[in-house]
Amino acid sequence: MTNRNYNFGAGPAMLPTPVMERAQQEFLNYRGIGASVVEISHRSRDFMDIIEATDALLTELAGIPKNYRILYVHGGAQMQFSAIPMNLINRNPDRKAAYVVSGNFANLAAAEAARYGEIDTSCNSADANFDRIPQFRADAVDQASSYVHITSNNTIYGTRWNVFPDTGNIPLIADMTSELLSREFEIDRFGVVFASLQKNLGPSGLAIVIIRDDLLDHALPETPGLLNYRSCADKRSLANTINTFAVYMMKLVLEWLDSEGGVAAIERRNAEKAALLYQTIDESDFYLGTAWTPHRSHMNVTFKLAENELLGTFLHEAEANGLYALKGHRKVGGARASIYNAMPVEGCRALADFMRHFERRRV
Ligand SMILES: *Cc1c(COP(=O)(O)O)cnc(C)c1O
Repeated sequence: MTNRNYNFGAGPAMLPTPVMERAQQEFLNYRGIGASVVEISHRSRDFMDIIEATDALLTELAGIPKNYRILYVHGGAQMQFSAIPMNLINRNPDRKAAYVVSGNFANLAAAEAARYGEIDTSCNSADANFDRIPQFRADAVDQASSYVHITSNNTIYGTRWNVFPDTGNIPLIADMTSELLSREFEIDRFGVVFASLQKNLGPSGLAIVIIRDDLLDHALPETPGLLNYRSCADKRSLANTINTFAVYMMKLVLEWLDSEGGVAAIERRNAEKAALLYQTIDESDFYLGTAWTPHRSHMNVTFKLAENELLGTFLHEAEANGLYALKGHRKVGGARASIYNAMPVEGCRALADFMRHFERRRV
C-alpha cells in the first residue's frame, strides 16, 4: 500500500509517485537483465543507454543548444560552489568575479569563491533579510570580472528572479538547484547553469552542470580532476564511478515531466499551485508572506503566522492532516511550503484548505 503524504520538504523533496513506483518495480530486475540498476557497471551498455537517454531528454526539455555540454558531477550544488571558481575565475588572470547575494546559498557560494579570487558582493539584499532580489546594475560590474553568479530561486527565503540580468560579454552563471525545469528560460543567456538533483530532478549527491563549450578550458592547475570541467566533458562524466542510481532516477523524472507536457505545461501548473497558496496568505491577516510580493518564488512559499506562538500547533496539525515538512528554515522562521514540480495541484489545494480551516478555528 502506498500511503504517501503531501511532502512540502525543501529537499531532498518528494518525487512523482509514478517515478517511485517505476523504480520500485524495476529495482530487483532491471528490464529483465536479472540484476538491479545499482548492480551494473557504469560502463555497461545498459547504463550507457540510461545516461544517453537522460542527456537527450534534458536537451529536449530544457532546449539546450548544440554548443553546450551536460556534465554530471559528484557532490551536489555546493561542490559547484568550489568548481565554478576553480574552473572559471581564471578566465581573466585578474581573478575577479561578481556574486549577487540574494540569500544563504549565494552567500556560501561567494564565500567559497573568495578562496580563489577577488569577489564583489556589493549587489546584496542582506539588509532586507533577503526578502527580495537585489537591484542589479550591469554597469556596476567590473568589466574585468571573469563571471557573474546568481541564484535563480532562493530556496530558504522564497524569492526568485523574474527577469534574468543582462551581463553583456561577461558569462552569467546560475545556481538553479531549486527550480531547474520548473519554468522556461533561455539557456543561451547563461555561460553555466548548475543544479543538484534533490529538489526537482532526483535524489541527492549529484549535480548537473550545463556549460557553454568555450568555458571548458580555464581551470586553475590545482583543480581536482573530478571537478575539472574539460576532463568531465572529455570523459563524459565517467572518469570514475558516477552515481548511477541518481542518473537512473533523473531519467525517470525527465520521462515523467515529458509525459506531463514538458516545461511549458509544468510552468503553468506551478503558477496555479503557487497562486492557490499566495491567495490564501493575501486574503488573511492571520498569515503573513515573508517575501516581497513581486519577487515571490513559485517553488518555495514562505510565510509566518501573525501569532507566532501558534506555529508549533499549526505544523503539528498540518502533519496530522498529511501535510508534511512545512517548517520554515531557521533563518526565516515560520512555515515554508516547497512545491516543486512533483507536488500535485491537489497538494496545494489541501494545504490552502487546511490553512483556512486552521485560521477559522483561531479567530
Ligand atoms: C539546496 C540548494 C543547494 C545545496 O545543494 P547541495 O546539493 O546540498 O549542495 C544549493 N543551492 C540552492 C539554490 C539550493 O536550493
